Amino acid sequence: MDTVDFRERNSELVAEEQRYGDDPIAVRDSDHYRAEYIQTFVEKWDELIDWEARAESEGRFFIDVLKARGKIRILDAACGTGFHSVQLIRAGFDVTSVDGSAAMLAKAFDNAKDHHIILRTCQADWRFLNKDLHGKYDAIICLGNSFTHLFEEQDRRRALAEFYAALKHDGVLIIDQRNYDAMIDQGYSSEHKYYYCGDKVVAEPEYVDEGLARFRYSFPDGSEYKLNMCPLRKNYMRRLLNEAGFQHIRTYGDFQETYQEDDPDFFIHVASKS
Ligand code: SAM
Repeated sequence: MDTVDFRERNSELVAEEQRYGDDPIAVRDSDHYRAEYIQTFVEKWDELIDWEARAESEGRFFIDVLKARGKIRILDAACGTGFHSVQLIRAGFDVTSVDGSAAMLAKAFDNAKDHHIILRTCQADWRFLNKDLHGKYDAIICLGNSFTHLFEEQDRRRALAEFYAALKHDGVLIIDQRNYDAMIDQGYSSEHKYYYCGDKVVAEPEYVDEGLARFRYSFPDGSEYKLNMCPLRKNYMRRLLNEAGFQHIRTYGDFQETYQEDDPDFFIHVASKS
């Protein structure tokens, strides 16, 4: 599909502000993500994730995991503004970039073009992935805490079933998530600030309970955006992956194999079909 096409077709691009209604912490809905990624927030996202800082902090982790397993054909299922798609294409992988948000996908396309890359894109919601996408992949990545946009368990199971079906028989799924166990059990207001990447933008939870983590992203120009996410505990996520059919699940903490449970900001699950 042409990028211009999804700009024109999707009315959410014209939304000027995030809308959470009168009671923002009551918004716990798997479908709300499209309305959260309004155009101005999408434009700011790269300021938030600062590609250079992110590339430095991630190092070669994903490239090495995929190469070690001989994976070439990759589906970036939550491509956002295209950071991982571009990194992987530059490292020689064959990448298809998917996102449910037209605004994100259009930005990814433009960013890749700036790197002299034409992205192969598809706008699709994970829960209906195989309706819009055909073919089987060696690996699927779903990064940047994206999976925790899903609030209902049946949506999570459905998305994982779609990922499973889109993978070859020995395929690998890599999903990351914030360390919500630490956030829920230890609170979030103390010394632990959650910086995504870079030092210009502060990303921190402003409200957390067992069913909601509401993040605030504050930018140097004074603008603020919010994301309502579903705090998934690490072992619950591992169980879901297992119940979706994945045989082996290895969970890294901030890219390390060994870690203290409370320490990492992020967990990365590498789940194999065989
Ligand atoms: N992976 C990118 C990164 O790390 O910068 C983007 C992360 S952003 C937090 C989450 C992304 O997931 C958004 O681009 C959003 O549109 C996408 N997303 C959320 N729920 C989705 C769904 N059900 N289907 C497809 N994409 C979804």
